[in-house]
Amino acid sequence: MPKKHRDRIFHCLDLIAIPAGTPPVTSPPPRSSKAMPRKSSKAAANALQRLNLDAEDAPVETLPAKASSSGTAAVGGGQEEECLRRLHELVGFGRERVELTEEEVRANDQRQEDEICALEAIFGDNLVMFSRKEGQRSFQVHVHIEIPDGTNVSARLSSGAGTPNYKQAHDHDGDASDELFYKFRVDHLPPILLSCLLPLSYPSHQPPFFTISTEWLDRVMISSLCEMLDMTWEEQQGMEVIYQWVQRLQSSSLSYLGFGDEIVLSKHDQTYAEDGGDKRALTHNAPPDVTIPRIIRYNDDKHHEAFLYAIHYCMICFSEFPGVDFIKLPCHHFFCQKCMQTYCKMHVKEGTVVKLLCPDTKCGVVVPPNILKRLLGEDEFERWETLLFRELLTQWLM
Ligand SMILES: [Zn+2]
Ligand SMILES: [Zn+2]
Repeated sequence: MPKKHRDRIFHCLDLIAIPAGTPPVTSPPPRSSKAMPRKSSKAAANALQRLNLDAEDAPVETLPAKASSSGTAAVGGGQEEECLRRLHELVGFGRERVELTEEEVRANDQRQEDEICALEAIFGDNLVMFSRKEGQRSFQVHVHIEIPDGTNVSARLSSGAGTPNYKQAHDHDGDASDELFYKFRVDHLPPILLSCLLPLSYPSHQPPFFTISTEWLDRVMISSLCEMLDMTWEEQQGMEVIYQWVQRLQSSSLSYLGFGDEIVLSKHDQTYAEDGGDKRALTHNAPPDVTIPRIIRYNDDKHHEAFLYAIHYCMICFSEFPGVDFIKLPCHHFFCQKCMQTYCKMHVKEGTVVKLLCPDTKCGVVVPPNILKRLLGEDEFERWETLLFRELLTQWLM
């Protein structure tokens, strides 16, 4: 058999067996009712007023965060327990006990309830309440860092065993023989998780207990963010502070840590010790070759989510549809489902399966079997398989 033909057959068989890398467009997850204020809008408006906030100014993340490394807004039972354990460890740690009158306890309780009501209205699914323990409220906020024009992320990787084969962006200064400098660009970063426990003395006398965790910052950097929040409390002692904390984390984290156009991931700290540093700074301390794929996947998921909800233009029928009604090919060209279905069925009917390529005239990427399977009926898909096999056999015999 000529090598050219044999390779072509193997290539096509691969196509049938292996689904394409790009996931087909699927329906978006249903919008959770939790995205709406859980209390009445009047109560939320009142609470907002107490916080001196304007609901219109408030950032509302309406899309449910997709499950990924740490992108999911849902907190599993085990995770909640771990969060609560960490928060309760902080209670009484280096903090004076404040004697409160019954009146003060009642007033704080009301203010906390109002504040949480407002935060739920503002942050929707990005705020997860934990079960109340010893009368104290606790919750976690997923803080999405603002990077309007995207940002570069870079990391040094050791090229030792177990390191994925990232392309070498460029050699950095220093010993380039055993280190790779990897650089990529993202528009979305996995959220920073701010977990809070409200003591009975908050907000009148003391700030909330809190922890900050994220997988793309090291302990020293997260400790700096903790100090940033301490400063915010110092500036407005006795006032509700959570909204301002989230705002500062959202808009000032990167500049506060001194990152300009680029975030540099820390090297894996082998000497990492649980006991060192700020107890409120929680880090996964994963090496960059674990963190990088997670950051990239989170970014891709967010892009895909945005595509599904946005309105796009079909280059075949010149109509506009939401992203969920499109088929995206591995080459990233996309066409409305109706046009793609008509196009594929036509080629199968006419037996021109070798012409089943991306409809973009300059592209020529093969429409992968997993997409064909969704667009064609069972019989048509079988016919496509038979036709393709016959075509390959003819080529081989020629
Ligand atoms: Zn169309
Ligand atoms: Zn294409």
